[in-house]
Amino acid sequence: MRLILFGAPGVGKGTQAKILSAKLNIPHVSTGDILRLATREKTPIGLKVQEIMNRGELVPDEIITGIIQEKLSTDECKNGFILDGFPRTVPQAASLEKMLLDLGIKDINLIYISAVEDELVKRLTNRRACKVCNNIFNYSLIKDSHFCPVCNAEDSFYQRKDDREDIIRNRFEVYEKSTKPVLDYYKALLDIIYVNALNAVNEVTESIITQIEARIGEKLLISA
Ligand code: AMP
Repeated sequence: MRLILFGAPGVGKGTQAKILSAKLNIPHVSTGDILRLATREKTPIGLKVQEIMNRGELVPDEIITGIIQEKLSTDECKNGFILDGFPRTVPQAASLEKMLLDLGIKDINLIYISAVEDELVKRLTNRRACKVCNNIFNYSLIKDSHFCPVCNAEDSFYQRKDDREDIIRNRFEVYEKSTKPVLDYYKALLDIIYVNALNAVNEVTESIITQIEARIGEKLLISA
């Protein structure tokens, strides 16, 4: 199973990707997580992209496609993957098409998770991430706690630099201008699966799974 989770900042792509990765037993490939790790480890790519990310701008296509190309050719991704945060520009989508062709992959599902911008801005300003397991939490749920509810790491919560309101608005502008056109690119290629980001997390997951099953005409093998 190969999935692309697509949508504006804050729609829950990362949250759904983690859940679906565990349920379907396929790796979660998040370009944002890969880049954040590179910046923390101060690798050459990390040093190059840090400022761009802090401003909420897009990292150059050739850096991102290089990362994805390497990742998709690993054994880990041989039987499937979930792309979260890629492709984010039409040239990235075209590069992905070529990579899939080279890898002999024909079946890919694009899940478009959507909601109105004001709701998403609210969500993003209230979110905190765990720097150990990368899970995302609403601030109200963890504000009195010192331990991550998922990995139990102590005092590991932080607010991403790009989750400040001025940067968030910039990320939405970038999304409208450079990323939204990717939808039109795919409309011509495949049937997009639409889900509403404002439903409960488990309902969004259910909706994605049910729609994929309807498309492929069989039940998916779901891990508990
Ligand atoms: P995310 O965690 O997906 O919100 O990504 C965080 C930041 O990483 C973005 O605002 C971009 O600066 C960068 N980034 C992640 N994925 C891509 C991509 N496919 N193309 C360009 N920049 C990206």
